[in-house]
Amino acid sequence: MYGDWCVCITLLQHDAIGACIQVVKIAYHRQNMYRQPRNTYLLAPLLMFFNSVAADQPQPVPALPACDEERSSIAMPKPPTNRWEITLKTEADIPAALAAMTLEEKLGQLVQTDIAAATPRDVREYHIGSIISTVPTGELGSARAWRDLFDEYQREALQTRTGIPVVFGIDAVHGHSYFDGDSVILPHNIGLGATRNPELAKRLAEITARELSATGIHWTFSPTLAVARNIRWGRTFESLSEDVEVPTAFAAALIEGYQGDDLAATSTVAATAKHFIADGATDEGIDRGDATITDADIRTMHLPAFIEAIDSGVLSVMASFSSINGEKLHGSRKFLTDMLKNELGFDGVVVSDWEGVALSELTLEEGLNAGIDMFMFAKSWKTSLPELLRIVTNGDVPIARIDDAVTRILRMKVRLGLFEKPFSSAACAATVGSREHRDIARQAVRESLVLLKNDGILPLDKRDKVIVVGSHADNVAYQSGGWTKKWQGAHLDLYNNPAREIAGATSIIDGIRNVIGDKNVIDAGIADVREDADVAIIVVGETPYAEGIGDRQASELVLTEEQRELIRSYSDAGIKVVTVLISGRPLLVNEQIGQSAAFVAAWLPGSEGQGIAEVLFGEHNFTGKLGFSWPRDVDQIPINVGDSEYDPLYEYGYGLTY
Ligand code: BGC
Repeated sequence: MYGDWCVCITLLQHDAIGACIQVVKIAYHRQNMYRQPRNTYLLAPLLMFFNSVAADQPQPVPALPACDEERSSIAMPKPPTNRWEITLKTEADIPAALAAMTLEEKLGQLVQTDIAAATPRDVREYHIGSIISTVPTGELGSARAWRDLFDEYQREALQTRTGIPVVFGIDAVHGHSYFDGDSVILPHNIGLGATRNPELAKRLAEITARELSATGIHWTFSPTLAVARNIRWGRTFESLSEDVEVPTAFAAALIEGYQGDDLAATSTVAATAKHFIADGATDEGIDRGDATITDADIRTMHLPAFIEAIDSGVLSVMASFSSINGEKLHGSRKFLTDMLKNELGFDGVVVSDWEGVALSELTLEEGLNAGIDMFMFAKSWKTSLPELLRIVTNGDVPIARIDDAVTRILRMKVRLGLFEKPFSSAACAATVGSREHRDIARQAVRESLVLLKNDGILPLDKRDKVIVVGSHADNVAYQSGGWTKKWQGAHLDLYNNPAREIAGATSIIDGIRNVIGDKNVIDAGIADVREDADVAIIVVGETPYAEGIGDRQASELVLTEEQRELIRSYSDAGIKVVTVLISGRPLLVNEQIGQSAAFVAAWLPGSEGQGIAEVLFGEHNFTGKLGFSWPRDVDQIPINVGDSEYDPLYEYGYGLTY
């Protein structure tokens, strides 16, 4: 104890409150570990006092070091001999450009194709406006290789008569998570919402923007502003919260993080608010389903975050695959044009979802007339282009509608500065997966953790031996979830797509080793039951999934039999269990909570698994708060804060601290 106070005095010079908390914690904890009677009169109240002070003191969010000076070595290619006379640099130039464009040139701008479905030559020939990069087919691995690939497409775009550059987009929904190099993978939105820290979210969006621009990408299909009202929905983890409050508080921060003050800067990208609207409200949480919902509910629960995003200048909004009271959103003039564009004054691009018009069983004419500006055709663009030409030529879609769509797309390209700087820049290349980015991602992991139960075992003592066990303890693909390297996640997925590496990631067990040293960690693999330590950290949860595939019946929201057995076995053996749950939503785990001395909801933390150890071993306190109500039983699902009979196991906003 005397030594501890000496440490306290030394540390006082740096961080008075932090140092004292640490000392009181150590003393309190030692009593606990060595099974001494607790001096609750002195230490416990002190600990509570200091911790409550600490919980009110958010950790500052560090600034990011600047990217390098602009270093694009690519010279503008010589324009073709038939280049038009138009200069397209500012928004004021758009009407003149529009007047000079042929119908084919205009329609090409409406097309977004998957990179795997179009060659650079196609871009030139069909005036393609945009490319989405899903999983790259090769193993490119370096920022340089990605930039070269996109620049090759761009070079062809610049050889057209108009020279209108292509805009490249990607699903960077939790960091640059499709990059097959060592980008940092951030916690999914469900964890981000639990941090209740928009400033941190803004910094994370900045990190993503830098890593994207370093690999030649201009546009992310993020943030998801869904308010997920039923945890059966497989996209719940993409939602910040079940309630309007959190997404509304985060929307502006995320848009500002991605888009910055200067959209034309090399470190910023266009953002997409998605999916418009009420994608999280579908009946029974069915992905792409129908929401039986009143206009009042839409306006109070699902619209406010989009209003924030639009007020922050978001450049695009993605239509939802779902329907509202039977009306498909991809064909809804009421929502896409009357509400989004006219009422809210959104002047950016309404992009369809992946083959969203066809998958909604709508015609292109219906989509266009409803207000879709750009079609994420993915693979079907070649057959769709002649159809677009047909419906415009025969008057099914007025040319004014096409002109409006093209104006919006050109506006986005002007705002991104693509006419001046069409080629990629290596300025932010050194930041991809950098220490600074990983440190902030780790802070996000720490702040996202929600402590549901603690009988006093936490924080653990760094000097004690711990058993680490469970399917998710040493699996960076599992801890990262869907939309990581591949659509359904980096593991070998349901479709037997080969697993992909998450370069530079730290698993949860490696993070524990980093924090307490190798010799104190007993690695019990996926399911061994060992009895050579007093404490077992059991890391279990859901395996990765993305849209559709992740939908579940309420009764399926449980751990696997093997995972339940593992927790049971340790608890029966009299070993103190600290359960860390990796999941995209609350699960029905009452029994396992009962068998655990401490229980932590860690969501889908991404590549920086060490953040978990830093909190378990008391380097930092818990600050995370539930953005989703934790159901008491299967019959309560769906349950949301504000329900008339609201009696969850853990309420919205719940989260213990030390
Ligand atoms: C998802 C979108 C995503 C798009 C492109 C769709 O299936 O609904 O959120 O941006 O695919 O990958």
